[in-house]
Amino acid sequence: MKIGVPREIKNHEYRVGLTPNSVRELVHHGHEVLVEQGAGAAIGFSDDAYLASGALMLERAADVYRTAQLIVKVKEPQTEEIPLLQPQQTLFTFLHLAPDPQLTRALQHSGVIAIAYETVTDRSGRLPLLAPMSEIAGRIAVQAGARSLEMEAGGRGVLLSGAPGVPAGNVVVIGGGVVGRNAVSIACGMGADVTVLDTSMQTLRELDQQFGNRIQTLNSTRTALDEVLPQADLVIGAVLIPGAAAPKLVNRNHLESMKSGSVIVDVAIDQGGCVETARPTTHSAPTFVEEGVVHYCVANMPGAVARTSTQALNNATLPFVLALADKGTRQALLDDPFLLQGLNIWCGQLTSAEVAASQQVDY
Ligand code: NAD
Repeated sequence: MKIGVPREIKNHEYRVGLTPNSVRELVHHGHEVLVEQGAGAAIGFSDDAYLASGALMLERAADVYRTAQLIVKVKEPQTEEIPLLQPQQTLFTFLHLAPDPQLTRALQHSGVIAIAYETVTDRSGRLPLLAPMSEIAGRIAVQAGARSLEMEAGGRGVLLSGAPGVPAGNVVVIGGGVVGRNAVSIACGMGADVTVLDTSMQTLRELDQQFGNRIQTLNSTRTALDEVLPQADLVIGAVLIPGAAAPKLVNRNHLESMKSGSVIVDVAIDQGGCVETARPTTHSAPTFVEEGVVHYCVANMPGAVARTSTQALNNATLPFVLALADKGTRQALLDDPFLLQGLNIWCGQLTSAEVAASQQVDY
């Protein structure tokens, strides 16, 4: 199969659909991989590295789209990319169509087969192509929080590890799922004093087993939050209620009870945020101060480490890309009900019940 990898053109998007290592695997399986020149240059994947892996480098995105049967990307197609899509071409990428009727209609009109990373599932109902981004966001959350605690950033000048003779910083993680567990792991690694809250006893049990007495686990109740927030130097918001906006667990009154210069990293901001005072920020202006508390609310945290994110995403997507290329899209979807969950549009036809329901259209 001919597989195309265009350069991402969304603002500040430096990730790339396939790494040179992934290209090498696909070429080994007998496929032809067409990569737009410069597609991985920003994150150290040079054109020479792609050539050495067996890719064919093309000068223009239009040539990649015209020739490839399968397009592997990272972000949803931008306005300039829509006219380049070909009928019956397979598009495998993050799409997030539910809140975007305009893009949904445009993809329907293009005639592509659109498979969205974020709706592919696994045997336990989890989202294996979204998980690597949550893992990375959880890890960055502590790094971003530690930086925001520095004086220059408006923080209270606390080092999370403490120092000989000085206590460690206090980190409160709300939500102990994928983001939360990764945040806990890094915060523990830094030597912080860590408390994690969740409403799921199973999750708290697993965290207790993994981290033992290195952390404190608490059932997430109003009382527990009232008690832990005034002690915190860094609060990480990592809750998710699938399919719903994040619950506002930290409110303005809590902020008044918190230490001046403490930091909140609201990772759940992409679902509206679990902190009343949070609003989305960007990597170029990541923080603002409200009620004396520094807020870090970047909606696309993994973008900060685009090279690591690309590699982690490729680890998860490559088996599916291989299946699509080896078997052809139709057979790969028939053989794998979990990949089939990723199918959002089939040649003009909307096939996702969730997208249809959120846009109140038939499917
Ligand atoms: P997850 O489902 O693995 O974990 C969410 C956890 O929240 C679960 O353990 C759940 O029991 C817990 N929870 C639900 N209600 C709670 C409450 N009232 N109190 C405490 N815990 C509660 O989800 P995840 O993959 O860890 O994602 C967490 C959030 O991070 C999501 O909103 C996700 O969209 C977001 N996210 C953001 C970025 C970013 O760049 N900002 C990147 C990745 C993920």
